[in-house]
Amino acid sequence: MNTECIFCKIITGELSADKVAESDNIIVIKDKFPKASVHYLIIPKQHYRDLLELDDCSVSGSLIQMARSLSEHNSELRDFKLLINNGYSMGQRVFHVHMHFLAGSKISDFENLI
Ligand code: AMP
Ligand code: ZN
Repeated sequence: MNTECIFCKIITGELSADKVAESDNIIVIKDKFPKASVHYLIIPKQHYRDLLELDDCSVSGSLIQMARSLSEHNSELRDFKLLINNGYSMGQRVFHVHMHFLAGSKISDFENLI
């Protein structure tokens, strides 16, 4: 828990968010400023500032497993794209590691993301 971190505040309930799914170590929320018709953020409940700090394979594995679970439970999410911005120069703006789950749009809509 990092008291300055907006995702930690969402996880503790201090800030509100549109929660999509949850497991013991992961939450999924809708991105506040979506860049695709479906844009979720898959977030570990434990605070890691970026992927280099995330040294627990069970947590990094859980991020992928949550993406699979979201897809399996909704036929409209059969096809999806996962994205992690790691570091400021690669577009990371929230320094609590998270994975973008993007779906429901054509791949050409993502040209500015990849
Ligand atoms: P990144 O640029 O990879 O660090 O992604 C941060 C993402 O968090 C952006 O897509 C923002 O739109 C999103 N975001 C920022 N604040 C909030 C919030 N309070 N609730 C939901 N999503 C947020
Ligand atoms: Zn945090």
